[in-house]
Amino acid sequence: MRSIMIATLCLFAAAVSAPSAIAELSKAERAPACADRPHALGVSRIVEIDTSTAGRFGNMQYKDIDFLKPGEVVLTFDDGPLRRYTLKVLNALEAHCTKATFFMVGRMAVHDPAMVKEIDRRGHTVGTHTWSHRNLGALSLSSGEKEVELGVSAVSAALGKPVAPFFRFPYLSDPRRMIDHLQSRHQGIFSIDVDSHDYRTRSGQTVVSRIMAGLEKQGKGILLFHDIQRSTGGGISDLLDQLKERGYKVVHIVPKAPIETLPKYDELAAKELGKYAKSAASRPLSQRSVVWPISTGDDMPAVEPLVITPRHPLNAPLPEQRGDVPPGFKIKDEPEATQTIYEEPSSQTNERKTSRNIDSSTPEPSWQDRVFAQ
Ligand SMILES: [Zn+2]
Repeated sequence: MRSIMIATLCLFAAAVSAPSAIAELSKAERAPACADRPHALGVSRIVEIDTSTAGRFGNMQYKDIDFLKPGEVVLTFDDGPLRRYTLKVLNALEAHCTKATFFMVGRMAVHDPAMVKEIDRRGHTVGTHTWSHRNLGALSLSSGEKEVELGVSAVSAALGKPVAPFFRFPYLSDPRRMIDHLQSRHQGIFSIDVDSHDYRTRSGQTVVSRIMAGLEKQGKGILLFHDIQRSTGGGISDLLDQLKERGYKVVHIVPKAPIETLPKYDELAAKELGKYAKSAASRPLSQRSVVWPISTGDDMPAVEPLVITPRHPLNAPLPEQRGDVPPGFKIKDEPEATQTIYEEPSSQTNERKTSRNIDSSTPEPSWQDRVFAQ
């Protein structure tokens, strides 16, 4: 039986009444800081999702389940972690005492396990988004299964524990065979309601205005951002300010239980993590400490301490870090007219191309364009 348990807990009440699934949120060190921030978004509800019979969410593609009330949003960030922008996102979320869900790419996760752990440590939900962001619509069932399961095992290996059974399809491309596979694995499938189109712009303000315009039309929804995009890194703080100003409420989604990883893919993931560690160990210490931290979670390079300015709007200092793109990926800051998510290594020639030029004079893209550009 599909069930969604909705706990109407405010973030501050969570400290005394949260069930174990959200115990992470009730860490004593968080509450005092949040109590000093009356203008913070916070979390209005924590929705615990039982994916034992799967479930599909997000009205752009699925009409199965809609757990959001008018004015409620779920914040989601795909494709990372990428330290230089993920940290900005994390600090903006922290300044607003609010929580999000990160749909991580396995390859990105194994190249920065410290960042994966940091996202979890801050109480956000960690889901997955395949191993290498391939279009599952173009793959056989067995290749698609490997993409999904290696993604799950790799992000879990980087995190040091199983992740949430929450999955988002790259490009929102969801062939029936893979939906069936995910359902057999009790994974929840998350589409979207409002798209920031952050990969099409370098401007944070454009991201803010697109999201606010989309929300004005729809009134609520699962919001899509990419924490590998400069525009989202630059605009997220203002976006959260605006959500608060306009009265939107953030819902944090958490799993009832973590996913069970498959041993076959755990082995592959361990090898990938080992390659990363070897690569990190071969680098000079001066680079390692910033670029390739070897971390069990405790020795993570210092994230810029968050200084809370008790005024409205809130602004957190945002650390700049560079050089954190894993081998095989180029993540480019493109001019306004070009979108690029990934450039895959040339050996993966059957990978769907994810770059294309956008003529500013072209009309608004079709639904299909929008969907497959994710
Ligand atoms: Zn993606």
